Amino acid sequence: MRSRLLSLLLLVGPLVLPAQAVSPDQTLHDATAQLQALIRINTTNPPGNELAAARFLDSLFRGAGIESRVYESAPGRGAVVARIRGRRGANAKSPVILMGHLDVVGVQRDQWSVDPFAAVIADSVLTGRGAIDDKGMLIANLQAMLALQRRVRGGTTLTRDVIFVANADEEAGGDLGMGWLLKEHPDAIRAEYALNEGGRTRIMANGRKYVALQMAEKVSHVVTVTASGPDGHASIPLAGNAIARLGRALAVIGAHREPTVLTPVTTRFFAALATIWPEPAEAAAMADVASGDRARVERGAAVLAAIPTLDAVLRTGISPTILEGGIRSNVIPRDAKATLNIRTLPGQSIDSTVARLQRAVGDPRVTFAVTSRGEDSPAMSAENEFFAAVERAARRVDPTIVVVPYLSTGATDSADLRRAGIKAYGLLPFPLVMSDEERMHGNDERLPLSAFRFGIQFVTGIAEQLAVP
Ligand SMILES: [Zn+2]
Repeated sequence: MRSRLLSLLLLVGPLVLPAQAVSPDQTLHDATAQLQALIRINTTNPPGNELAAARFLDSLFRGAGIESRVYESAPGRGAVVARIRGRRGANAKSPVILMGHLDVVGVQRDQWSVDPFAAVIADSVLTGRGAIDDKGMLIANLQAMLALQRRVRGGTTLTRDVIFVANADEEAGGDLGMGWLLKEHPDAIRAEYALNEGGRTRIMANGRKYVALQMAEKVSHVVTVTASGPDGHASIPLAGNAIARLGRALAVIGAHREPTVLTPVTTRFFAALATIWPEPAEAAAMADVASGDRARVERGAAVLAAIPTLDAVLRTGISPTILEGGIRSNVIPRDAKATLNIRTLPGQSIDSTVARLQRAVGDPRVTFAVTSRGEDSPAMSAENEFFAAVERAARRVDPTIVVVPYLSTGATDSADLRRAGIKAYGLLPFPLVMSDEERMHGNDERLPLSAFRFGIQFVTGIAEQLAVP
């Protein structure tokens, strides 16, 4: 471990921390080497092995004179928490967290054009697992910390503590990551705000950008559908065959649409997006959806149904994901099962959705059971210093950019934080076109270095807006 760490440190070079500002070119150069080193530590979860990555970041913080500690949640698993101290006493603000996760999802190696853990750079694009989920953001957060530390060295007292958290196990639910940290070391991460992954900085077809700042998320549940019927020898066909019954039920479930529901976050999202969306008919549909008028909402929602990513934030979504049934080609099984992943909108009940499905299927021999129940978390507000800081920092990098509140269809660690009373917001600070954004968890995950530079400046700006007096 030690020798590996040492060679990594040699790779990224000694960290010299001058009190004065560092040029954007130098920052990008340093950050790129750090990101390459971090991607080369394979933290595929399972098994994770985040501890080596945590130690690597810990050594960078210590080298810069920033207080840092590694927390081991299980053998080989762990987090790193670093802190720059700000004001103390009555006029100190409550801390802010810059966070991300160290683990990555697995790869289908034969589908990649390069080694996913080599962090190859070609044509100013860095390709590697974790480049945009979530190691790029960890390094942007690290660079923001280094920029703040230079301010402190220059004599500035921050208005609040700024805490860096890189945790484990996000991709597998966080029981050995954020969940563990909140339970075992709540004092280390006590804060008012957290900047996490989960949002988007999207480059639209007309070249304009918008930032979707995640302020709420859908809740993931697993529901098992079981169809039963008479079993017997396949030579005698039987009415009520469980597999045929399940097939009929799934056809109904596949065609079922949950009602359109607008939340305060999605209403603001569509209202803001309507003003910048390049396609006029879709922009008009977004304005309709945000209008609050029932007929217009339904008309707009019908247009947006053609865009799956937008339709998914307008209603609870149901995706059949697994089929099980039968043991032999000549035996009629007694039952057959399907697994549904259901993502409810915040505040919507999974039991109501299941009841609607049960009614739609209308077959007493098809039963539904919630086998894994997700937990709701409160939505965040756009009326506070955090949202304003993100808007100001975004415009500092690109004056034409618009920040919109966003409800994500995917689940993140932020739900745990929000339930613990920390106001967590999700960002992906790197401007990406849709096709690059879709490489997250996919093949040839990549980060253009120009987007990396933008993201570092963006996150550093947010941290400065929140902590520099
Ligand atoms: Zn992630």
